[in-house]
Amino acid sequence: MAYGGHVAPTRRIVLGGLGTLAVTALGCSRSEPAVRPTGAIVTRWASDPWSLGSYSAVPIGASPTDRLRLGESFGPIHVAGEATSTEAPATVHGALASGERAAAEVAADIAAGGRVIVIGAGAAGLAAAARLAPTHSVTVLEARPRPYGRVLTDRSSGVPIELGAAWIHGAADNPLVESARLAGVATVPFNWDDSRVVADDGARDDSRAREAFAATLEQLAEDEDLQELSVEQAVAESVARLGLDDETTAAVDRLVASDIEGESALSATTLSVAGWNEGDDLVGGDLLVVGGFDRILEPLTAGIDLRTDAPVDRITWTGEGSGAQVDGPRFSERADAVILTVPLALLQAGLPLLDGPVPATWRDAADRLRTGTLDKTVLTFEPTVPNQRWPSTLVTGWWGADRGRFAEWINLDEATGAPVVVATTAGDAALVLEAADDELIIAEATEVFDRISVPV
Ligand SMILES: Cc1cc2nc3c(=O)[nH]c(=O)nc-3n(C[C@H](O)[C@H](O)[C@H](O)COP(=O)(O)OP(=O)(O)OC[C@H]3O[C@@H](n4cnc5c(N)ncnc54)[C@H](O)[C@@H]3O)c2cc1C
Repeated sequence: MAYGGHVAPTRRIVLGGLGTLAVTALGCSRSEPAVRPTGAIVTRWASDPWSLGSYSAVPIGASPTDRLRLGESFGPIHVAGEATSTEAPATVHGALASGERAAAEVAADIAAGGRVIVIGAGAAGLAAAARLAPTHSVTVLEARPRPYGRVLTDRSSGVPIELGAAWIHGAADNPLVESARLAGVATVPFNWDDSRVVADDGARDDSRAREAFAATLEQLAEDEDLQELSVEQAVAESVARLGLDDETTAAVDRLVASDIEGESALSATTLSVAGWNEGDDLVGGDLLVVGGFDRILEPLTAGIDLRTDAPVDRITWTGEGSGAQVDGPRFSERADAVILTVPLALLQAGLPLLDGPVPATWRDAADRLRTGTLDKTVLTFEPTVPNQRWPSTLVTGWWGADRGRFAEWINLDEATGAPVVVATTAGDAALVLEAADDELIIAEATEVFDRISVPV
């Protein structure tokens, strides 16, 4: 039976992709900002036809074990990708490790010289291909005109700006640290504590709010009774137990939006408590990649038969040992094994169509997991923008009237040497923002920048 055949394998279900716009005269701002950006980039990861979101998360009704089930092979199909990682889901190094795991499975099953097709040239697909290329006949089929998937480095402002993955998480035990060093890609330690909040909605960010948030998180981490709930339900329960007043409760909700939704990219109404602290045991802090994340993955493409603009629409097989037929508009070939690394949301949409026996355990796990959205709004300024206009901290939280919109601002000035700030919006707020025109998004972001850049 074909899995996902209920949704036509067409790209018409989604719009656009990543929009880039140089800003000259917007003229639609409610107040007149003191400075205007000279350039801007707006990401729309949920509308990106080849990811349909930013990264996977565990919603209510699912559990991290579903990631293991999603990574189980069936017939000639081996599944990899960040969504299958339990050690480091939703990360680049989790994706790399999943690709290596799938390659090891194939190497154990298929004799040297066997034909292997890898679908997707993101971190998972490239890691799998690099591992198998010396022993097997490997081809990587990538739908986009470029490799690296959700690693997307933009250089239009003169410095590399990451529109997808930007941080190497858990630097103490992350192989990407060494890969970056070998590739000569600069990284800088990122201190999340160098932060402050600017509030425009009456909520107060004070020590009482921070303590209440910490107490709430402690309950979420430790209380067995809360594990089955959504983060929103569990926080409400915890806030009631702590007897917080309305003002502190509002501040805790803002911290949920920035710290929990900002990280998981899924709304607290959907995210499960069990899924909230996945990957929390990563140690060693974070490094910000400033020399181009794509260059860290580039060595994996050396000597590989990588075909871009080659979407796969259907994989057909009958059972164990008979290989698979892989078809797309520009490709039709048999393989002894297939390594499937397309993002979770595409698997759920039936892209590519899996036309063969798919175990119910795999299908159910795929259906239960979710993909969250984290979008970035990048503003670039003239180097002459006076210093006193620049945000005074590395990270600035924004609590505006629209919960979650532009919730976190990263000041890249010092790290990159270029006058660039990146605002992030996650969860439902990101989905709302994606529906707006670039001009409106940039105008509103510029207004917020104006507020947050006033020195304390
Ligand atoms: C905005 C954002 C910020 C992030 N921040 C971080 C961060 O700071 N640190 C971190 O570690 N991670 C971060 N991540 C997550 C990280 O980018 C991903 O976990 C990782 O890159 C996923 O790799 P992958 O190989 O599993 O999937 P992908 O990179 O998505 O690769 C899958 C590939 O399959 C291709 N494909 C899809 N369908 C088909 C088809 N039918 N036929 C052929 N090819 C197909 C896609 O085009 C894509 O290239 C971020 C992601 C986003 C979007």
